[in-house]
Amino acid sequence: MGKLVIISGPSGSGKTTVCKLLEKDPLVKKSISVTTRLPRHSEKNGKAYHFVSTNEFKEMIRKGELAEHAEYCGSYYGTPINALREALAKEIVYLLEIEVQGALQIMEKFPEAISIFLLPPDKKTLGQRLMQRNTNKEQDMELRLKIADKELEYRDRYNYCVVNDDLELTVNTIRKILDLA
Ligand code: ADP
Ligand code: 5GP
Repeated sequence: MGKLVIISGPSGSGKTTVCKLLEKDPLVKKSISVTTRLPRHSEKNGKAYHFVSTNEFKEMIRKGELAEHAEYCGSYYGTPINALREALAKEIVYLLEIEVQGALQIMEKFPEAISIFLLPPDKKTLGQRLMQRNTNKEQDMELRLKIADKELEYRDRYNYCVVNDDLELTVNTIRKILDLA
């Protein structure tokens, strides 16, 4: 039986970066979400996300193909249920890099899931990291920072909170939590 792991945290807290490093371990796989958001420059369809239209997304909800879904910053995001079931049948660590609303749905459906909330060292650093990623329009960035305040209110619902200051330390801490160290 695989291990289901939720990684949440405000946009810019380092989820994607941390998950990529965790995925270097052959035991770790990350779920590929479905989204209606437009791809960023470096994002390939089927790798970063499955990019779909709003109609396609709604059809997936109707057919029960998503384990959870949420609207974030004007786009829809969801976790494909079949890939999740297949992953859990194997002895792997399966990462769901998802926002808070989706995380709460997974906690309800899969109480055995390990949930980790990634925190930025402080708000200023979060803003700087979002700016440094430099992929979001300014308005989008402001909205993401506003959503961050709401998301932080849910941190106590998670099994673990990890402050992502030093990247290597963060990854090692999470590897320990997941018994990978
Ligand atoms: P998220 O997926 O949570 O939105 P990202 O992984 O895209 O966040 O990280 C946002 C930016 O912060 C990226 O430019 C990334 O390289 C940088 N970053 C992530 N973690 C750290 C860290 N511990 N120290 C410094 N920069 C970091
Ligand atoms: P981004 O647009 O920065 O890639 O993602 C925006 C937010 O959506 C992030 O918090 C990310 O973790 C979250 N997200 C990505 N995939 C999913 C998903 O499948 N479900 C949910 N609920 N959130 C997701």
